[in-house]
Amino acid sequence: MPPRTSPRVVIAGGGLAGLACAKVLADAGLPVTVLESQAYLGGRAGTFLDQDGEWVEQGLHLFLGAYSQFRALLRDIGRPPRQVLYFTDDLRFEEPSGPAATFGTNPVYAPLRTLLGALGNNDYLGPLAKLSLLPLLAPSVLPDALLQRFDRMTVVDWWRRASNSKQALERALRPFCRAIQFTDAELFSAYNLLGWAHQTLVRPLRARLGGYRGARDELIFAPLAAWLKQRGVEIRMKVELDEIVYDEASQRITKFRLVGGEEVEADAYVVAVPAWVFAPKIPLALRHRPFFADIIDLPTAPAISVQLWFDRVITRRDGYTMVARSNCPVYQDQARYTYPYAKGSRISVIVSPADALLDWSDAAIVDHVLADLGAAHPEIAAAKVVKRVVLKHKKHLIRPLPGAMTRRPKQVTPVDNLFLAGDWTQQEFFGSQEGAVRGGNACGRAILRRVQYGLLK
Ligand SMILES: Cc1cc2nc3c(=O)[nH]c(=O)nc-3n(C[C@H](O)[C@H](O)[C@H](O)COP(=O)(O)OP(=O)(O)OC[C@H]3O[C@@H](n4cnc5c(N)ncnc54)[C@H](O)[C@@H]3O)c2cc1C
Repeated sequence: MPPRTSPRVVIAGGGLAGLACAKVLADAGLPVTVLESQAYLGGRAGTFLDQDGEWVEQGLHLFLGAYSQFRALLRDIGRPPRQVLYFTDDLRFEEPSGPAATFGTNPVYAPLRTLLGALGNNDYLGPLAKLSLLPLLAPSVLPDALLQRFDRMTVVDWWRRASNSKQALERALRPFCRAIQFTDAELFSAYNLLGWAHQTLVRPLRARLGGYRGARDELIFAPLAAWLKQRGVEIRMKVELDEIVYDEASQRITKFRLVGGEEVEADAYVVAVPAWVFAPKIPLALRHRPFFADIIDLPTAPAISVQLWFDRVITRRDGYTMVARSNCPVYQDQARYTYPYAKGSRISVIVSPADALLDWSDAAIVDHVLADLGAAHPEIAAAKVVKRVVLKHKKHLIRPLPGAMTRRPKQVTPVDNLFLAGDWTQQEFFGSQEGAVRGGNACGRAILRRVQYGLLK
């Protein structure tokens, strides 16, 4: 049902959450303005052209088959997932100076690989270590509301009670924790780990991994921006939210003040910037309220992304590799499908946990990555790195410390015309692309509900 009135909405942040929210509102015919501080859209999932004219990504991005709302968004804007992604049905694990194994992930699309992977690969995960993973299945079928009880303990604490296979912890769970939320298993909420297992178990046919068929700017963000603009959404680039102005008398937000002094007024205000950008901007009069104090307290994790261009082919795998006993827990060679004009391998690596490496020089980080990758791929010793990009961010994700996941705020706030969108708001996919789209969709729907009940104007 279209809204009876059309209040204007302003959204600060042109990442996946802000853009998904803009789409929900534009679909309902509301006038929307998006304010983005960078010269490109997509935020942490974004890609941009560097000074050499090469696409660089904020970081390696895996698309999990279970991402349903992100798929729907792609379909809606005329970019069906099969045009944007290629899917693989296996996942490789390796230990820099140890064994490697490839496991099939999907009993329907790759039945033989899945069966042989589970029965074989015993030098990587012995039969007992594989069996020890079974306790993952039982709690993972629980709905999200019940899984939230596991937010009180870490993966390591839970694992000690559930199974305690050291091999499975080091070679399967720890690399997963490091890769997916940039955090070690000792600090990682068991709710977050079980939540990912839940999303896969309830959609077994979707147990696949997607890689992008190009730069996300060209594949997703430019088409999404064009789609939104056609529906009247105003997208303003290189404008930065500086202050959120709150009027105590009316208990409403009255404007967004931008860096440079410009003021933007609307009927509803959406914060779609990361929590750590929002926290210092929370108006003084609101900071002490528990809802906002919890946001200020959300812990953050750093991220380092390394992209390496080689003069020759290093791997011939297009899928993802998880690395055990390494702080390069996941990498992918993107030379064949994502950036097919690369002459040799083009490897994108996540460095995690990154806390101890943030002060290192770029050269030292690259040497560290090459040493770990080189131990598994001796070809690297003879190869030349022709280009390297290192991106370091002190804060790039909410750290899933025990308790933090259930403390994430809802999209509606105690202030009637202030709403939140972002991967850091309550939704079932934590800090991820799907989480951002879900946070944005939920925010858009919450605004529409207020509009329909006449509560916004
Ligand atoms: C290195 C790395 C690897 C990742 N890998 C994966 C992965 O493999 N799979 C996966 O699903 N997810 C992955 N993620 C997570 C995923 O990228 C994020 O969860 C998602 O992109 C967050 O979207 P968002 O819109 O909530 O936030 P953001 O993308 O951070 O968007 C916020 C936007 O606000 C803008 N902004 C900031 N400050 C201001 C301001 N003052 N005024 C105006 N605009 C502002 C920013 O420029 C940005 O565009 C990864 C993240 C990182 C950092």
